[in-house]
Amino acid sequence: MNFEDYHTHHRRCGHASGSLRDVVEAALEQNLHAIGLSDHAPMLFLPGDHPQPGTAMAKSEFGAYVREMHDLKSEYAERVVVNVGVEADYVPGSVDDYRALLAGGDFDYVIGSVHFIDGWHLFQEQRPDGVTREDLWDRALVLTREAAETGLFSILGHLDVLKTKGHLPDRVDTPRLHETLDAVADLGVAMELNTSGWRKSANECFPSLAILKLAAKRGIPVVLGSDAHRPEDVAADFPRAAALLREAGYGELASFSRGERATRPL
Ligand SMILES: [Zn+2]
Ligand SMILES: [Zn+2]
Repeated sequence: MNFEDYHTHHRRCGHASGSLRDVVEAALEQNLHAIGLSDHAPMLFLPGDHPQPGTAMAKSEFGAYVREMHDLKSEYAERVVVNVGVEADYVPGSVDDYRALLAGGDFDYVIGSVHFIDGWHLFQEQRPDGVTREDLWDRALVLTREAAETGLFSILGHLDVLKTKGHLPDRVDTPRLHETLDAVADLGVAMELNTSGWRKSANECFPSLAILKLAAKRGIPVVLGSDAHRPEDVAADFPRAAALLREAGYGELASFSRGERATRPL
């Protein structure tokens, strides 16, 4: 498959299996054009070296992670493009810390993801007291826009991932959604079609076709990401995702190398 996968995890984050090399080997098996390595960055907004071992790598592990990616990039250069990346949380107040962490890592791209809304992790079953699904969606969009405005992120992760645990309201097409997508388009930040939603109970990719159509109309660049948490899921459902992007109105994909964006045929 002549695709590039921009969103993969490996065992360093504590909730995925396989090594970075296993992920690259999986990409080779599938004949991908490029494989992006994007494990969860350490949680700089929490105290201690390894605040949540089952969620993200330790702060002290980050250097080894970056070195190992660059080593694999060199080693596999003749066979597959290895893109050096990371998935970092967007949490207000932590941007300068992430900027400092990522400086000098020579990243090809950085995914910015909202996993926390005002201290609440959005994969929790229970919503915070007195907070509606409408409130959460609105807040997630505001945070997404702020993330785009930081200039730190090349790609915005899984836009409507709130639906994983049923926290997305019935009506997602709100003025805030349009305002957010307008801002993202103006800022020239890309987003991803994340296929992992098809492997979860929501059984819908992130974001939905309706949102992808709004994004395509605005020319927001898009990449494909499997969000694989095991090597077998690298590039999962990519032909289906490509077909959906065409249906949404996309004619091309974005591609990243050393922070620079280019385009690839879809
Ligand atoms: Zn994520
Ligand atoms: Zn992820």
